[in-house]
Amino acid sequence: QGSMRVKDLAEALSISPTELIMELLNMKILANVNQMLDPDIIKEIAKKYGYKVEEIKPRVSLKKKTLSPEEEAKLKPRPPVVVVMGHVDHGKTTLLDAIRQTKIAEKEYGGITQHIGASMVEHNGRKIVFLDTPGHEAFTALRARGAQVTDIAVLVVAADDGVMPQTVEAINHAKAADVPIIVAINKIDKPEANPERVKQQLSEYGLIPEEWGGDTIMVPISAKKKQGIDQLLEMILLLSDILELKADPDKPAKGTIIETKMDKGRGPVATVIIQEGTLRLRDVFVAGDVMGRVRTMFDDKGRPLKEAFPSWPVEVSGFDELPQAGDILEVVEDEETAKRILEERKQKKETSNIEVWGLGEKVLPIIVK
Ligand code: GDP
Ligand code: MG
Repeated sequence: QGSMRVKDLAEALSISPTELIMELLNMKILANVNQMLDPDIIKEIAKKYGYKVEEIKPRVSLKKKTLSPEEEAKLKPRPPVVVVMGHVDHGKTTLLDAIRQTKIAEKEYGGITQHIGASMVEHNGRKIVFLDTPGHEAFTALRARGAQVTDIAVLVVAADDGVMPQTVEAINHAKAADVPIIVAINKIDKPEANPERVKQQLSEYGLIPEEWGGDTIMVPISAKKKQGIDQLLEMILLLSDILELKADPDKPAKGTIIETKMDKGRGPVATVIIQEGTLRLRDVFVAGDVMGRVRTMFDDKGRPLKEAFPSWPVEVSGFDELPQAGDILEVVEDEETAKRILEERKQKKETSNIEVWGLGEKVLPIIVK
């Protein structure tokens, strides 16, 4: 059974810990900020604030580990994986479309974009991967499952509207995930646009523009008029250089599943963002509870691939069953190994004490001691 601390629940509900403590007092529960709360109480409180609590199966997590100098030496630069976040109607979808149109449609292969949950664009010969799902839903859901796929968050703020509740939420999610933010100040084509006010408002949340001595990159854009798009991509690449995003392409592949579907012809298929190693046709893998062998791979332009490198989003078929978004796909030596790992996971799950709870759109991991 899952539980969570008072302060974490307060954060999840976007209320102050004091308010939550008062709420608990009303329920005749005396609690401090670090107190663990029972699932029933979490559910009851969450309901009061209009949230639904969902139970989600425990997942394996991709932990960051420290590398030896030998491992370090094998790392090669990889493209950044970017998520676009921001308040509703501030222009996330328009921005993603603008990026795709200017950066994909011009290519000779015709620009037939497939919806696979992510797309790869090129700017000055360098690749950038964008998660297609605008907003933070996918981002938080994946993260709650232990998957960290995003390297950079682009926070879209409409210059005529300014910082709004979901802007703040997005900032909090990115900060909690330790994902650096680039701000795209959008809709600068509008006469009522006020970029300076946006900067002022954002600085109250610790996002201080470089010209004011801070370290947050802010780019004025018009997603609709396709202005500032190149500068934004430029800044994303600059930040990825600073972050030194790297992976070892020679290892057995490991990646995170961001989308799944049943395909009539191909059976269960999943979009995987490769995080290390190179995924190749016929590789045997495990992903959560299921195993498989790579039968086909396609990129976001529908082109068949034989190999997929770190950060690449690829649609993979060859799963025995449908895996889940958030599952980590890991290439293993052979089918025997895959079977053994699945058996071990099954046993472990039966005794597992980790539960993941979802609060409305937000999904939070709760670890029970
Ligand atoms: P989302 O909810 O964040 O995905 O926002 P959308 O991309 O759907 O945009 C919401 C509305 O704002 C749409 O009517 C867009 O046409 C409009 N919009 C988006 N970007 C711009 C912009 O740069 N300038 C202007 N004037 N309108 C924009
Ligand atoms: Mg949208």
